[in-house]
Amino acid sequence: MKNIAVLGSTGSIGQNTLDIVSEFSDRLKVIGLSAYNNIGLLRSQIKDYSPEYVAIREDKISALRKDINGRIKVCDTNSGLKNMIASKDIDLVVVAISGSSALESVLEAIRQRKTVALANKEALVMAGSIIMKEAKKYNTQIIPIDSEQSAIFQCLQDRNKKELKKIYLTASGGPLVDAPVSRLKNISVKEVLKHPRWKMGKKVTVDSATLINKGLELIEAMWLFDVKPEQIEILIHREAIVHSMVEFIDGSIIAQLGVTDMRLPIQYALTYPARWKGVLKSLDFKSLNLAFDKPDFDKFPCLGLAYKAARLRGTAPCVLNAANEIAVGAFLEEKIGYLDIYRIINSVLSRHKVLRNPGLNEIISVDKWARAQAQKLIN
Ligand code: MN
Repeated sequence: MKNIAVLGSTGSIGQNTLDIVSEFSDRLKVIGLSAYNNIGLLRSQIKDYSPEYVAIREDKISALRKDINGRIKVCDTNSGLKNMIASKDIDLVVVAISGSSALESVLEAIRQRKTVALANKEALVMAGSIIMKEAKKYNTQIIPIDSEQSAIFQCLQDRNKKELKKIYLTASGGPLVDAPVSRLKNISVKEVLKHPRWKMGKKVTVDSATLINKGLELIEAMWLFDVKPEQIEILIHREAIVHSMVEFIDGSIIAQLGVTDMRLPIQYALTYPARWKGVLKSLDFKSLNLAFDKPDFDKFPCLGLAYKAARLRGTAPCVLNAANEIAVGAFLEEKIGYLDIYRIINSVLSRHKVLRNPGLNEIISVDKWARAQAQKLIN
């Protein structure tokens, strides 16, 4: 039996993770759940999975305690969550919290030597060098859940790094891939949130509309697989069937393909290194027509910013991520337009003096600085 904690259990990755737990209830057990504030859904998850621990935002704790089994420990999402992660009963922690607040949980799980199934991008983008260093130090495995990183992870297996030539990171193109440039200026939040391929949370859907999502994945891949940004080529692949590819120095390319369903990479992260018989359909190759294109860097300038931040390394990716989170939040609240997202990130990044080898405290203060700068521009 594999005992797991799901952080961010009420989000879309969290819910998919729990679906997989239901499918394999004889092999997977939920020990801990954490949510931000969706108390209704958390309650029903508690009923379905009877965890030992649940974490929720401080102001919701008493409301949650009221009508659940008194033996379940209810804790806050700060120190309480840390204690939950440290619980001896937990083998694997699924980090499906979105945004930078996941960083502390990721580091705690690593230090407690729990296998980390990582869906969150922001933590690696902010502090990739620290996370990878800690994972090495504590000999903790990080298994990516993001479909592209999972694909690369599966293609690479344990090959010698020296044999890897490049990575092809595929992108569905997001909801605006066919929108004419002239439409972007006044495009509404509602239109942006209509993603043709993947059903995801709001923040990541906006990120895929600006393609900064792919930029964050570029930075993520750079850390996870120890490659230079120049070794990563982004390909627009609308069908989202090839989830990414790796090319070795002899010219051989290995790709990972599968139906467009997040349950595939989530299940792999939960069962790794084994594979368990799932319920997903096989691909029907006869109905497939796969195409690959280069991305339009003029139409999606956030992608260029991500390459720039990746090359600068140090605190630059942290600034990119922080400014983006604030800008996307403001866009979702209709305080700024779609094109302002790029303008804000660009302006904050260009004002930042990059620290080459930041420690965690420096990263946290740079993150705050970038958020404040972005907020100032929005106001
Ligand atoms: Mn992805």
